[in-house]
Amino acid sequence: MHPQPNVSLRDYSTMHLGGRAAFMVEVHGRTDLTQALDWATQQHLPVIMIGGGSNIVWRDEGFNGLLVVNKMLRYEVVDEDGTNVYITAGAGEPWDSVVARSVNAGLTGIEALSLIPGSAGATPVQNVGAYGQEISNVLVSVEAYDSAARSFLNIPASDCAFGYRTSRFKTTDRGRFFITALTLHLTRGNPAPPFYAGVQQYFEQHTTTTYTPQALRDAVIDIRSHKLPDPAKVANNGSFFANPVIDGGTFAQIKAAYDEVPHWAVDENNVKLSAAWLMEKAGFKDYHDQQTGMATWPTQPLVFVNEHAQSTADLLTFKQKVIDAVRTKFGLTLEQEPELLP
Ligand code: NAP
Repeated sequence: MHPQPNVSLRDYSTMHLGGRAAFMVEVHGRTDLTQALDWATQQHLPVIMIGGGSNIVWRDEGFNGLLVVNKMLRYEVVDEDGTNVYITAGAGEPWDSVVARSVNAGLTGIEALSLIPGSAGATPVQNVGAYGQEISNVLVSVEAYDSAARSFLNIPASDCAFGYRTSRFKTTDRGRFFITALTLHLTRGNPAPPFYAGVQQYFEQHTTTTYTPQALRDAVIDIRSHKLPDPAKVANNGSFFANPVIDGGTFAQIKAAYDEVPHWAVDENNVKLSAAWLMEKAGFKDYHDQQTGMATWPTQPLVFVNEHAQSTADLLTFKQKVIDAVRTKFGLTLEQEPELLP
């Protein structure tokens, strides 16, 4: 266990901004993790654990503590029968490799979450979802180290307080648990329609009529790679805002002014709007901000791109500009999706 001193946090966020960490260590297993945590306790240093850094914005002030990078790899079928397959994935496993392997085995449940950057362990934190699938729909339990009790535990999905792009890991228990593995319940067979409009159109254009997990994965990969920037090539954090979920009364007011507003019912009282649409209407389609060096991706304004920003302060200035413009036009406040750390 050899923590590396004075590490640039820009290398640990796909937005490539932020200050420095006092120390960084990679952990490959549970023993590595407990040794790292014991060391941090002896040094009186706080700890932050991350996976791939795809959903993290580091503050310019940096982190005077120990950054633990989770590299715990594992993909194991832990139980199965004729219909159901339970897999356990290490938190440091690249998420898309978990998806690829499950799809290869003919399993449905996470194939619409193809090509989402980052590690498996990060997916429950914000209840990652795309194209109609959400990690909370298939998650059985999370294995984590509880820094309050100083022991490992299994947290069943029903205790994760999942909501739309949220969980207890980013709200009430932020920073408390270090996720080490996930167990997922997948099923043999095919995903069932209806699919998101973009996926349905793709199937129609490609005259696909047998909806296998592989067909859905291929469609999502093709759609995403045409529409979204590759974080290995273009500095970004994916969607920068969650889609706002609003009550029926607020929705009625917006609909009266903008009849064409795209919307989806969440339940009998609440409606989800498209943050991307709100941003476009507020003037941020393919927007390049000279002052901050930030931009919005031409085919998906929800993705902020760091073109030549110097600091996280630039990013936060741009973020505020977008929030203010959307609030002025629609009276809604967009919520940041990537986590601002520390
Ligand atoms: P889109 O199909 O134009 O969807 C726009 C938004 O409308 C999405 O954010 C989606 O919300 C919502 N939506 C569309 N069809 C829906 C339906 N049938 N039921 C409920 N909500 C629906 O295309 P898009 O903006 O490219 O998004 C497609 C998917 O990719 C979405 O799930 C989105 O979350 C995901 N995405 C992820 C990132 C990222 O980098 N992480 C970036 C862009 C889009 P939801 O977000 O709730 O799905």
